[in-house]
Amino acid sequence: MKGKCLCGLIEFDLKEDIPNLYQCHCSLCRKVTGSSANAAFRISADQLLWKNGVEQIREFITETGFKSHFCNNCGSPLPNLTANDSAYWVPVGLLEDSEELTLVAHLFIDSRAKWDVVADTGEHFAEMPDAETLDRLLRPTKTVI
Ligand SMILES: [Zn+2]
Ligand SMILES: [Zn+2]
Repeated sequence: MKGKCLCGLIEFDLKEDIPNLYQCHCSLCRKVTGSSANAAFRISADQLLWKNGVEQIREFITETGFKSHFCNNCGSPLPNLTANDSAYWVPVGLLEDSEELTLVAHLFIDSRAKWDVVADTGEHFAEMPDAETLDRLLRPTKTVI
């Protein structure tokens, strides 16, 4: 599976199947996406391979540690490493093909925008669920035969 930014300078490959998706409705994710929520998944750090354009990647980190990586040329949000560097957060809209993927969780429902109508698909969490709960939901359920 390939992913690309809007201008195409930055490309990456994903080696394993895409796990389940979540959306975060917090105020920071709204700013980063310019929309009601992000839609993303997490994948082991060694399963993402940068193919092109790494020199175009720019990084912004807030005082509280919230990270945003983006393309220097077109501004697309880009995958970035989670706090302990073990996994990449990947915005699902960057994927070149739209597979059958499952949205399993909505985070920070309590701080969503007033106009945001949250889909019934997936579990709703007022804030951030504990790591174990979220990991269980995001784990891929499809098995390759
Ligand atoms: Zn770009
Ligand atoms: Zn968020």
